[in-house]
Amino acid sequence: MSEHPTHALPSYLNAHELGPWGIYLEQVERVTPYLGKLARWVETLKRPKRSLIVDIPIELDNGTIAHFEGYRVQHNTSRGPGKGGVRFHQDVTLSEVMALSAWMSVKSAAVNLPFGGAKGGVRIDPRHYTRGELERVTRRYTSEIGAIIGPNKDIPAPDVNTNAQTMAWMMDTYSMNEGATTTGVVTGKPVSLGGSLGRVEATGRGVFVVGREAAHDAGIPLEGARIVIQGFGNVGGTAARLFYEAGAKVIAIQDHTGCVHNGAGLDVLALLKHAEEHGGIAGAPNTENLSAAEFWSLETELLIPAALEGQLNKDNANSVRAKIVIEGANGPTTPEADDILTSNGTLIVPDVLANAGGVTVSYFEWVQDFSSFYWSEQEINHRLETMMIAAYASVSAVAKEHQVSQRTAAFITACTRILEAREVRGLYP
Ligand code: GLU
Repeated sequence: MSEHPTHALPSYLNAHELGPWGIYLEQVERVTPYLGKLARWVETLKRPKRSLIVDIPIELDNGTIAHFEGYRVQHNTSRGPGKGGVRFHQDVTLSEVMALSAWMSVKSAAVNLPFGGAKGGVRIDPRHYTRGELERVTRRYTSEIGAIIGPNKDIPAPDVNTNAQTMAWMMDTYSMNEGATTTGVVTGKPVSLGGSLGRVEATGRGVFVVGREAAHDAGIPLEGARIVIQGFGNVGGTAARLFYEAGAKVIAIQDHTGCVHNGAGLDVLALLKHAEEHGGIAGAPNTENLSAAEFWSLETELLIPAALEGQLNKDNANSVRAKIVIEGANGPTTPEADDILTSNGTLIVPDVLANAGGVTVSYFEWVQDFSSFYWSEQEINHRLETMMIAAYASVSAVAKEHQVSQRTAAFITACTRILEAREVRGLYP
């Protein structure tokens, strides 16, 4: 990793603790030469606007008191309110939430949504807590970050290990504190509470749409194309089903319980049922097990990491034999792996474009909540598809024009939009 000028580091992060934030900084370094006069403002992208760390004490069911660490980072709000999910994970760190918030700024701008970027996280392994305990964590976390969120300030949404129920508790807590029912404070809510049809599937659907576009551009027919997917949750599961229904051959899937493979194509619908009943895909009928190393080195047309950060890295990138990588997860490819894959001829459709379907339908949800007028699922899917196709086409065009990767192209488009807004707003005071 290249050296970053120390002035780019907030004092609360040590250079050796940069983690995902370091990866993001490196991506910003790569785009800077393409920003022209706006490069004068680039430092603004290297500092989150606001980072909040909160303590979350709750009483456990057994009567003891537990404390959890929570974060909400608002990276940039030049183009609109902060926007981004909240993840519950035992390994969440400030550096990670900072990077994820910055990727939200880039993602919103790359797809041209009127949002900035934000992200939240709680350091907790939700598998070890009851529903009641998770509700108390969610409510206390929401209350603690309540001063900085709001429908015009910063709008949380689901992310890893959070869902529509989590959003319902967040919305209720915020509304109780405000003394007013405020549906627009979060997106990804249950449909009964002002949520949008199609939101649950939206990220996976967006992954499918850009995957289909990228395959088409590469001259790969989707019918019979091999697909390998890491992650079988909301994103990976939906993408797997849509590719399967489109006639592609999903040959391998990895989740937290293991890897399953069938060279003739997995029965994705049966696998979804198996995962729901057994808590994971391991041991599903008509599949064989694979080691992680075998999984990453499968020959395939599309490889879709749809789990966590840093999964494609310098240790496994050289073994990858995929024509196209579609990043369903946020930050799944390290900069080293980016370079290795690109020089081996693999096209990477970056996270900030490939998984933008979720925040796009979050935008539709937010608009519907403001107008209290709700759209049909067909209308939502149609608008989502139109926006994803347009965003993919514009990023591809910039990549060709500048002879750069799609990631750098998405960053050029997004950072230009963010910094143009920054410049024309000017500095206050
Ligand atoms: N968590 C999703 C993401 O990383 C969606 C965020 C949102 O809808 O605000 O893009």
